[in-house]
Amino acid sequence: MLDHANHPAAPETFSGDRGLDHEEPLLFEIGRADVTGVDIAEPEPFASRLGALERKGPIGLPGLTEPEAVRHYIRLSRKNYSIDAGLYPLGSCTMKHNPRLGEKMARLDGFADIHPLQPQSTARGALALMEELSRFLLALTNMSAVALSPKAGAHGELCGLMTIEAALRARGEARTRRTVLIPQSAHGTNPASAALLGFEVRAIPAGEDGIVHADAVAAALDDSVAAIMLTNPNTCGLFERDVVEIARLVHEAGGYFYCDGANFNAIAGVARPGDMGVDAMHLNLHKTFSTPHGGGGPGAGPVVLSARLARFAPVPFLLREGGELRLVEHANETQSLGRLTAFHGQMGMFVRALSYLLSHGGDGVAQASRDAVLAANYLRARLRDVMTQPFGDRICMHEALFDDSFLKGTGVTTLDFAKAMIDEGYHPMTIYFPLVVHGAMLIEPTESESKSSLDRFVSTLRALAESAKRGETERFTQAPRHAPRRRPDETAAARKPVLRWRG
Ligand SMILES: *Cc1c(COP(=O)(O)O)cnc(C)c1O
Repeated sequence: MLDHANHPAAPETFSGDRGLDHEEPLLFEIGRADVTGVDIAEPEPFASRLGALERKGPIGLPGLTEPEAVRHYIRLSRKNYSIDAGLYPLGSCTMKHNPRLGEKMARLDGFADIHPLQPQSTARGALALMEELSRFLLALTNMSAVALSPKAGAHGELCGLMTIEAALRARGEARTRRTVLIPQSAHGTNPASAALLGFEVRAIPAGEDGIVHADAVAAALDDSVAAIMLTNPNTCGLFERDVVEIARLVHEAGGYFYCDGANFNAIAGVARPGDMGVDAMHLNLHKTFSTPHGGGGPGAGPVVLSARLARFAPVPFLLREGGELRLVEHANETQSLGRLTAFHGQMGMFVRALSYLLSHGGDGVAQASRDAVLAANYLRARLRDVMTQPFGDRICMHEALFDDSFLKGTGVTTLDFAKAMIDEGYHPMTIYFPLVVHGAMLIEPTESESKSSLDRFVSTLRALAESAKRGETERFTQAPRHAPRRRPDETAAARKPVLRWRG
């Protein structure tokens, strides 16, 4: 049901639709068993060899004509928000523009139609592309090797920690070094990845200024420490200034330095993690190098490795022998930790990321990083008198962090504020993350937005903040009014998902 109460002046429509806003039932509700979108002749009767496993009744899938199926998905897509529709300031997620050039390149037959089981001799171009992408990633990070196969940032974390574990095994310390140090502000995937491998997580507090200090790391180090996982710039949008000293301390104590590189888009082309003492770091191609994500496409999380870890990298990896490029696919040829995924990684994302890199060049990548930082600071500077910042009035990196102190006493929560942004036509910022900041609102505009787009966003947020302070609470607690489904219970949806249609 659409909520017509939002528009008391507008009469109800006879169809239940409102202009371009169509009410759309489930496929199962529109489909009919006797309809099909394909025209294949009934097969001749044949003797089934499935025995008792043969299906007895109809399969129960909805039958639709092609136009019905197309309309269904087009109508659903119009209820959705996307980076192509508007500003998408979701902090930590880096929803930057996905250049159309990347899409065009990824659709070239030679890349789009490649099969992972094709003989290597027939996929020379793809291997050369993977090598070229690797070269860029290694140059930008100043690292020794790269594992391309991980399929997301979190998968990259797992890959990096497994590589560290393999190195510890080679040193005979895999059993004794079972602790991973992780700052309290870390993304939830960090402790999850460590726990998945059976590591014990030891939390490191940040200072009052929002960054991790070397003395806090020193206090947590002992000979049970396998690694530290540090995000830089961190999830509060701040550069970890003690990073070099932290790396030195961790190395001295026999541990490795895993850097969560999800925020690399703030420093790519400007600073190199290899120069900061990093041993392993994942790169989210879908964030930093602009491949579509969040419903728009799969992720890709290549992991760059230092010289100390390179030989333990997972298979497959590229090897150039006598001018010939070869994909090493079996761990028994090397000290590799083994295989992480069935095939070679997200080829389509490699093509898009390399297109991004080639079209930007080294100077363009640095410019993008600087512009992302400039845009975030512009928002911060223009909002700081109406919204509140948790760590003082400091220059941030690629994202501006606010807390909910400015909403104190208004009856409006961070969640309400975010929902009111939907009515204004914006995707909300990331909320309640990082956990260390009360009622956090993490805004990442990226370099893609023009100044006029940022100005319009600023005036909307200012107007909302002022409205909340004037006590116009209903605007917030009743929001969103202009979304087709208002405010679903997201916790219930996550905890008790209804995944199966029962007609
Ligand atoms: C996005 C993100 C991750 C996880 O990356 P996925 O590709 O979503 O798995 C990890 N850490 C930080 C800081 C992130 O922003």
